[in-house]
Parts: sequence; C-alpha cells; structure tokens
Amino acid sequence: MAKFNKLPSLSKSPTSWYQEVVVRAQLAEHAPVKGCMVMLPYGNAIWENIKSSLNALIEEHGAENVCFPLLIPYSYLSREKEHVEGFSPEIAVVTHAGGEELSEPLVVRPTSETIIHESMKRWITSYRDLPLRINQWANVMRWEKHPRLFLRTSEFFWQEGHTAHATEEEALAEVSEMTNIYHDYCENYLAVPTLMGRKSEKEKFAGAVESYSIEGLMPDGRALQMGTIHYLGTNFSEMADVCFVNENNEKCYTQMTSWGVSTRLIGAIIMVHGDDKGLKIPPRIAPVQLQFIAVNQDEAVIKCCEQLAADMKKSGLRAKADLRDVRLGVKYNDSELRGIPMCIAIGSKEIESDSVELKLRDGIVRSCKLSELTDKVVYTELNAYHNRLLESANAQLTRMVRKVETADELKQAILDGEMAEMAWCNETDCELQIKEATGASSRNMPLDEIILGDKCTCAWCGKKARKYAFFARAY
Ligand SMILES: [Zn+2]
Repeated sequence: MAKFNKLPSLSKSPTSWYQEVVVRAQLAEHAPVKGCMVMLPYGNAIWENIKSSLNALIEEHGAENVCFPLLIPYSYLSREKEHVEGFSPEIAVVTHAGGEELSEPLVVRPTSETIIHESMKRWITSYRDLPLRINQWANVMRWEKHPRLFLRTSEFFWQEGHTAHATEEEALAEVSEMTNIYHDYCENYLAVPTLMGRKSEKEKFAGAVESYSIEGLMPDGRALQMGTIHYLGTNFSEMADVCFVNENNEKCYTQMTSWGVSTRLIGAIIMVHGDDKGLKIPPRIAPVQLQFIAVNQDEAVIKCCEQLAADMKKSGLRAKADLRDVRLGVKYNDSELRGIPMCIAIGSKEIESDSVELKLRDGIVRSCKLSELTDKVVYTELNAYHNRLLESANAQLTRMVRKVETADELKQAILDGEMAEMAWCNETDCELQIKEATGASSRNMPLDEIILGDKCTCAWCGKKARKYAFFARAY
C-alpha cells in the first residue's frame, strides 16, 4: 500500500516534497531525454484548463492564434546580436536531416520572435495594418542543465504573443496591459499573487529594450518568474525590415512587443498552495472540481453518486464519482494528494438522513441537505475556497518580503529564505556583487513610481538609489 506512505514534509524538505508530489499525484514524469518531461493526463488537464481560460483573455485582448514552425534558420536568430548571444548557450541545433548535412543549421525554437517577424514583414505595409497581435501555444526548447519538472525543463510548453505597433506609446501601452492581464489572471484563476515590475539590464530578455515580469514567491523563499512581457522597440524590426508607411507617407519601423507564460505556472500552483497532504489545485483550473465518494458498494449508494456526478456535469461543473471498491481512507487520501477542491461522501446514512457534508481541501466543512445540493451551492463554496487560497497566498507573500536598508540586512533576509525589498542603484556591477555574495538576483522593480529622496542610497553599495527593487534567489 505505497499510497499510504506519507509525503516528505513540505516545510522541512521542500525539494523532495516537490519531486514526490509531482510523481505521486501523476502530474508529470521525466522523459528519456534529460530535462524533458512527459505531462500525464492529470497534469495535462490542468494545463489544458489554463490554456482555455487564458486564451479567452488573450483573444479578448485582440490577439489571434497562429502556428509557426518548430525550426528556425540559424541566420534569423543571429540577425539581432544581443538575441543570439543571449540564447546561444541554451539552443539546440539541427545540423542533419534527410540523411544529409544541412547547408544552413536550423535552431529548435527557443522563442519565435525572429521567424514571426519574418512573416510580419509581409503582412504589414501600412499604418492601417497596425496594431497587429498574434499568439501561439507551442513548445520551445532552451537547454537546461539543472532541470526540475514544470519549473525548469529544456522543453516547455507556453504561449507567446507577438505584437507590432505604429508608435512607442502604443507598444508601451500593450506591455502595460499584458502585464496587468497576466497579474490578474494569476490571482483570479490560480489564486497566486505576483509582483509586477521592470527587469534590470542584466535580467532583461536578450534583444529587448525593456522587459517586465510578474514574480511569484515560493514558500522556500525563492522567486519564480511566472510571466514576462518585453518591449522590443525597433531592435528586431530594423534587423528584419518590418516597416510600414504612416499617414504622412513616411516609412517607419514597427514597434514590437512579445509576452509569454509557460507550464511554469503549474510549478507555482504546486508550491504556493501545496501542504503535507499534497496538492491544492485552485478550483477554476482544477480538472476535477468536485468528487463524490461512494462510502460503500451498496447499489443505492453507487447509483446516487453516479446520478449526482452526472447532474453536476450537466450544469458545467467538472465532477467525478469515486466508486472504487477500496477503503474510504484511500479515497480521501487520493483526493487530498491530487488536490481536488471539494469532496462529498455519500453513504446509506447520507441518503436516509438527506444530509451531506461538503469538504473543501483546506479543511473547511459545510453541511447541506442532499435534496438541496445544486450546482449553485457548489459554485458558491468553490468561489469562497478560491478566495481563501488567494488570501492565504497573499499573507504568505507579505510575510516573506522584508524591507532592508543595509548590505547586512540584505544578506540576512536572503539567508532567512525571504525576499528583500530595497532602494537600489540599478547598476549591473552592483547586481553582480549581490549575486556573488548572496546568491540573489534582482527580480524586478515595482511599477508604481516611488519617489526616492535625493539622499536615498542603494542598500548594497551606498551609491545614489534610482529604483526600488526586489531581490531573491530564484528558480
Ligand atoms: Zn548599488
């Protein structure tokens, strides 16, 4: 009965807890190629739910979905100097195909800016063609030396949005809108709060003018970059010659942006909400939102469970019935391990007394008459559960961000497994020193302009402070 083996403690050994829970809850497993993962039906179902809910928001934002090829000519990647330098250590290259050496090597896409811009060049001629927004759901490859399922894998799944605009102002508005869409999505669907901000020069996307991110904070004190949004300016359009004729008949280069989130979001859900019993999948993206548990094998009980699950499904809930002939404890354990938001046990007693208990995964129990159990009752409880998950994640985030004013305080915060918020000079040399001394990197700089007084100095180096910034060790 391996299933009754307890999971390692999340607080004492978060790494082994994470590895165990991913495998035992059957989210994913390692593929034969190091760094690649096989997403199993349950893990993939979570990803499918994330895709459909986020895709609706991306479409509403005005982007249309496309599919671009996996392979990119190497010469495309090398057009933008910073881009190719940034990605070179991580790219996989195809040199042979069809039994012959290729005249030009092909790169397995690490991201698709260069090949998408090549098409945009043909699609865009006039200002009337702008803005242009496209998105694709795809797999990409960035060779990973220290892989962890969902968090860092060589091949991962994501969406990448690519947009072209007539003016810098419009492109920056796009960046700001997408940053907000990602931030709100994480709260409203994943119950994960994130910090929005601008990346430092060192941490920005290779080839971007500016990069922005939403950063989550995991219970072990490490930050997880959960989404990135890049303002590319005309860096790429000048190289690929993506231009348009404006209202005054002048030729201009288009202003570009790109933005993406990946299967990392699943890593965030696992860590932010999980506990010693297993996962807590947020209800709006949970593959099973409500599980009926047959207490025994009586015909009436089985029938009742089947009927209830079928009725709930009809009203749009993702409901299932666990009718297996195993001990009740096993059924509860499985449901907790897999993080199913709500469980309702049905036995002869419940049927006779017309009363059931709605057990939420966070331990809250509600009573209800069996005859009055409707989808509305379930939705109300699931929404309240979502809010509790978000509230508790918010409290965790607040608890783990420490304001620091000196180098010693910064070192201590990182040692204590926290994130530091501090006034910063925003210089790469200073960031490299901090990384060397503490292992922490700048995560981002908050978007709200906080006015720093003239005398405000960098917590680390003492030079004039230019920005507030979050520093933490990161995945
Ligand atoms: Zn400094």
